[in-house]
Amino acid sequence: MAKVGFVKFDYESSRPNPMTRICLILFHLFLCQQINLYAGPRISIIYPAENDTINAAAIDSNFIFGQVTPATSHLFINQQSIKLYENGAFLAYLPLEYGNFEYACLAVDKSDSILARRVVYYVPPLGPISGDTVCIDTSSAMPRGDLELWPGDLINVGFQGSPGCTASFAVHGLVADIPMTETNQRGPGYWGESVFGSGAVIRPEPIPGLYRGSYMIQPDDSAVGAAIRFQLFDQHADTARAVAPGAVTIDTSGIPRVAETKLALTVLRTGPRKSYYYFLPKGVILWITGRQGRDYRVRLSETEDAWIEDYKIRFLPRGTPLPHPCIRLVRTTSLKRKERVTVYSENRLPFRIVQSTMPNQLKVLLYGMTADTDWIRHDSRDRLIRRISWEQLGNRVYALTVDLNQKHPWGYDAGFDENDNFFLDIKKTPPIGRWKRSALRNMTILLDPGHEPDTGAIGPTGFMEKDANLLLAHAVAKRLHKRGAAVTFTRLAEGLPLAERLSLAMASDADILLSLHHNAIPAGLNPFKNRGTSTYYYHPQSYELAQNIHNHLLQELELPNFGFYWDNLAMCRPTQMPAVLIEPAFMMHPEEELKIRSEKFRNRCAKAIVDALVEFVRLYRE
Ligand SMILES: [Zn+2]
Repeated sequence: MAKVGFVKFDYESSRPNPMTRICLILFHLFLCQQINLYAGPRISIIYPAENDTINAAAIDSNFIFGQVTPATSHLFINQQSIKLYENGAFLAYLPLEYGNFEYACLAVDKSDSILARRVVYYVPPLGPISGDTVCIDTSSAMPRGDLELWPGDLINVGFQGSPGCTASFAVHGLVADIPMTETNQRGPGYWGESVFGSGAVIRPEPIPGLYRGSYMIQPDDSAVGAAIRFQLFDQHADTARAVAPGAVTIDTSGIPRVAETKLALTVLRTGPRKSYYYFLPKGVILWITGRQGRDYRVRLSETEDAWIEDYKIRFLPRGTPLPHPCIRLVRTTSLKRKERVTVYSENRLPFRIVQSTMPNQLKVLLYGMTADTDWIRHDSRDRLIRRISWEQLGNRVYALTVDLNQKHPWGYDAGFDENDNFFLDIKKTPPIGRWKRSALRNMTILLDPGHEPDTGAIGPTGFMEKDANLLLAHAVAKRLHKRGAAVTFTRLAEGLPLAERLSLAMASDADILLSLHHNAIPAGLNPFKNRGTSTYYYHPQSYELAQNIHNHLLQELELPNFGFYWDNLAMCRPTQMPAVLIEPAFMMHPEEELKIRSEKFRNRCAKAIVDALVEFVRLYRE
């Protein structure tokens, strides 16, 4: 809106009489109106931002959204007429081309018009290397980072070069002339459509000229920082050469490398930068058996490896032995809200907990530990634990199975006590009231309004997700209070970074965690086909609650079903309570943004969520 600074009037100091003041205000409004009309239509483009990079291989269209004022204008983007909603919001899904791509947005209102341009860069998929001479794209040479490997490990190498040639590689001082093959494999597919859209797989065309090779390290091999060199030649014997950025070191010392976890919550993965799989506290001893770039390989057992980023560990002095504890005793202790299972391990070693709900059971895998178990002492005051049994899985894994007398799991916590003994705290069923109105009376619900300080998604009119989430949290809290539940928040006006929010949730002692969000889809998906309500969970203990909430939201809101998901989301990961993340509607869709702004819609969301909670807790009352 045009500024009206020149109509400056100090109402307080000059104090004209009331009639004059009214006239001045009317004159002021009249001037504003004139200036608005004179300024003509305005276009605000929320997405994409100027010079956005779109890296979603092989999509053919993308969305653009924002708002035009006045809402009576007509909007054309790249010559196509685009619908304006009642508040001037627009959303369009238009063809896109590789490279620099421009959206020309023309808003016309009566005789006035405005043209706004927005340029994005759509990353083209990897294509074949063309040219008269044989060449290797050095930026494609792998490994990218240094490798530390053991005899028996594979050295996997590759690069992109001129198609139809002959390739080989050598590891300096170790092996030479190892043949490579041209794979013609495809570039990585785009996951957006597979996950959120129709389920179709969008994959780029096969890329000629991708050469791959590997070598298995032999028992007598040795190398320290050995370079990997590539050779590519055609039928005229024209040759191109390149060196991979990563070099090879083979550990033949025979001395185990030992490190410990550095972070309060340290995540280990299934492969370098692959799935989160092991969640460990600080000070856990790890056996490091290799490295790939900045990721270390951890040996858990004879058959199980994990991977961890370098900044999460601290190496212990060379020669530090690996502990090999034997488990003689397991004991349970009944506490007020939980029952504790203590495994007298006296060492911090990696573990993994596998939960099942049918039957209600927790299985603990303790790596590097051996059974010498003579006693399992039960605390007879409590009936939460039905049975505990142990077994030895292979040479180095001690497994403890805990069967529970509980209709539904309510959470657990695991770690090491001050004596480095492993503990598993299992939460008792909260005292749930018999009647609908009293069901939540003894419960604490932790509400997590997503985002802030970041904005989260932004709607076409500029409405920010962080604000929408907080408004919804207040509406849910109001209903929960009416039902007698205690409500706590992870944030109000100001928010914590995600990692701190997660720690706060884990330490909160709440009975249920609800993370509240509003959605947006990734680039390339059709926002008219893919929208509506979705719900997310991570642990088996959260599945039933998540499904119940999802069904209630679908029924109450009558928006399209965007899906029910298992997803590795931080705020779904606390084990201490059932945790569900809710996305009732889409910020980016003009109709849904309008709804999200309305108190009526918010109250309907809150009603669905709280009704689902009540139904859930009553179903699993002991
Ligand atoms: Zn969000």
